[in-house]
Amino acid sequence: MSRPRVVILGAGYAGLKTAKELSKKNVDADIILVNKNDYHYESTQLHEVAAGTEPASKITFNIVDVIDTKKVQFLKDTVIKVDKDNKKVLLENTGELAYDYLVMALGFESETFGIPGVDDYSLPLVNIKTAEAAQAHLDRALANYQKSKDELDLSIVVCGAGFTSIEYLGEITNRIPKLAKTMNFPMDKVKITCIEAMPTLLPMFSEKLGQFGIDVLKKRGVTFKVGTPIKEIKEHAVVYEENGELKEVHAHTIIWTTGVKGSHVVGESGFAERRGRVMVEKDLRVEGYPDVFMISDVSAVMDEESGRPFPTTAQIAIKQGEAAANNLARLLNNQPTEAFTFKSLGTVASIGNNVGIGQILGGKEVKGYMGSIVKKSIINKSLLAVGTAGTLLKKGRFDYYH
Ligand code: NAD
Repeated sequence: MSRPRVVILGAGYAGLKTAKELSKKNVDADIILVNKNDYHYESTQLHEVAAGTEPASKITFNIVDVIDTKKVQFLKDTVIKVDKDNKKVLLENTGELAYDYLVMALGFESETFGIPGVDDYSLPLVNIKTAEAAQAHLDRALANYQKSKDELDLSIVVCGAGFTSIEYLGEITNRIPKLAKTMNFPMDKVKITCIEAMPTLLPMFSEKLGQFGIDVLKKRGVTFKVGTPIKEIKEHAVVYEENGELKEVHAHTIIWTTGVKGSHVVGESGFAERRGRVMVEKDLRVEGYPDVFMISDVSAVMDEESGRPFPTTAQIAIKQGEAAANNLARLLNNQPTEAFTFKSLGTVASIGNNVGIGQILGGKEVKGYMGSIVKKSIINKSLLAVGTAGTLLKKGRFDYYH
């Protein structure tokens, strides 16, 4: 009998972790990891590339440099869809790839909520390409002011005030004052607006902690509009609703960070999904498809404690990768699978390089410089989890003292 084949789709935090952990378990199986790029990127740090505070090379590394290539075969290809009834993956270049066990860890895409103009006139932050495009756009607009004297070149709107938006705002408000000197534009004409649909900003934190973060950004010149859902994006304008009235903010740079959905491949493969996420069983397998694990951004796992699915964070993705590898090894050894469990180590958002806000283990709050240190140690921990000690040394954050 031929060896069973495990195919892992996606080399983000979850897929890469699955491949790394499974290769350590000495299972009698062929393991193939498929990813559309030959590099992994730290999706939690895309905002830095988009803001221009870090180059893409800082948050990326080659996949084959961190996996055991004697045990895991890496295949650079793009997944078109999964034929789950015939246990095959359709790939853009390779064609069909059969599997005995499948791990779907295909990550996220930008969510437009069907709002007109989003795809045409705003810049999402969902991968290296889009983050670099956002950075080039912003830099071009700022540099152009000297020639155009058009104040719209100095106007930026960030759509949504979730973590990605807040962290992006933290970075640009650190960098733009420096650019003002080299590109020679007046800081007092720079206009940065953040527009949020919900009535409360940063509701995941205590009111005091959230306010601390917002005050830092306000002091750096950000204007927040709250309880003001965005209704349309036009060329150089964001239309939002305030007290039942439609209003506009004009800008040459419009950043779309209002949330994400799971990969479109999930829906195209006929899985029952909502916003690209499939509600999975406790062991992370898909009901009716015992050979398919669905993890991270494409899956929704019920958190028994809160009664809501776990959020989609890197910390959870890494833990799900470990759990999927463990359950795959158990299945390959004819043992029963185990339920996924997760204890959060906390949540921290950076506000530029030297400030952070967050809640860590035991509900303890951290803020300011201490928050940024905790944030950097979280980035380093993730790097070690999906990379190697060498990756950590090259890409880690050790600039603690500024
Ligand atoms: P999000 O869903 O956390 O935030 C999006 C925000 O946009 C929300 O506040 C939402 O109310 C707002 N919004 C949605 N539609 C809108 C509209 N039409 N008009 C105005 N506002 C609108 O999305 P995200 O920031 O992309 O994060 C995605 C996931 O990744 C989340 O689970 C988040 O917790 C996680 N994440 C975590 C970190 C961290 O731990 N530091 C950093 C980034 C992202």
